[in-house]
Amino acid sequence: QSLSGHRPVRAEAVVDLAAIRHNVATLRARADSAQLMTVVKADGYGHGMIPVARAAREAGADWLGAAVLEEALALREAGDTGPIFCWLTTPGEPLSDAIAVGIDLSAGAPWEIDELAAGVTDRPARVHLKIDTGMSRGGAVPEEWPALIRAAVREQQSGRIEVRGIWSHLSSSDEPKSPANEAQLATFQEAIEVAESFGIDAEFKHLANSGATLALPETHFNLVRPGVATYGLSPFGHALPSAELGLRPAMTLKARLAMVKRVPAGAGVSYGLTWTAPRPSTLGLIPLGYGDGLPRHASNGAPVLIGGHRRTIVGRICMDQCMVNLEDDEAAAGDEVVLFGPGTDGEPTADDWADAAGTINYEIVTRLGARIPRRYV
Ligand code: PLP
Repeated sequence: QSLSGHRPVRAEAVVDLAAIRHNVATLRARADSAQLMTVVKADGYGHGMIPVARAAREAGADWLGAAVLEEALALREAGDTGPIFCWLTTPGEPLSDAIAVGIDLSAGAPWEIDELAAGVTDRPARVHLKIDTGMSRGGAVPEEWPALIRAAVREQQSGRIEVRGIWSHLSSSDEPKSPANEAQLATFQEAIEVAESFGIDAEFKHLANSGATLALPETHFNLVRPGVATYGLSPFGHALPSAELGLRPAMTLKARLAMVKRVPAGAGVSYGLTWTAPRPSTLGLIPLGYGDGLPRHASNGAPVLIGGHRRTIVGRICMDQCMVNLEDDEAAAGDEVVLFGPGTDGEPTADDWADAAGTINYEIVTRLGARIPRRYV
């Protein structure tokens, strides 16, 4: 007996690469004529950056999106030769390494343009100008546009940089009707016009994350940057489940019960004894805890599937383990428990765990730690 007909393991995250390819193809179709950047940062939202990147390229991703330099460089080292955009650097980072291997970088301030120009050796740095259209998370606000654009013009003329893009990020695309989307779009359009008036006509204009790729076509321009939808998770949570968006959740988190025990009524469970058995009950020990990335806030309430039944985590989630209330189920050590998955076989979803923990599906998959092996199917 094994988790899925292979060597028994304590726990594993099974990642369905066919689902990733399906989601990438779906997003590509939703993007219409715009190019598609598949965002693979944070280890592919916990799914494994390199396997996801390969699957995304196979399914037609024109670009890969990375937050930090290590990610972008790791993609190149793994053999990816296509366009890669990396948007988050800090002063003093080795930009020359990234410039040398043709990674597109972001600059939202004149000093960032200077740093990029200084990092150039034999080929110009490919730069996307970052505009703050209202999220206040990096980028130039309208008063700063002329200085940023002038610096870009100067270094473009010197041949040290090539302005390839102009971009921003939406704060509220998970609420497509929010007036913030319209306001940010209008500001972005203004920034493009100002850049053009200075003679910068960037080839790529990009603003849309998953929510906007799926629900706000007016924000697509000629490049979209969906992340979470790639993994089959809805940016809208329960308000618009992934199945209704034609997306397939790619990750299933499974474990094997380490132990099963019967406890009498009144038995307290886990640290702080925050749950007490109301009647004689069977408990199962799941060998996963917050050290593996389970959210401790999901204590006393997160759902799991075991033996075809939905059961509940009781007591506090510990660092390495947690307890499930099996009620009167017949169960044995070694039995498989599914914590979350696509939801198509009765198992809870990442959204169900997000609800139990008071967070979003993004965090449930992304925080899963290196202690859990990923298995690709
Ligand atoms: N673009 C940028 C700059 C991001 O930071 C992110 C992720 O937060 C994305 C795109 C993808 O966002 P989402 O996962 O909501 O599609």
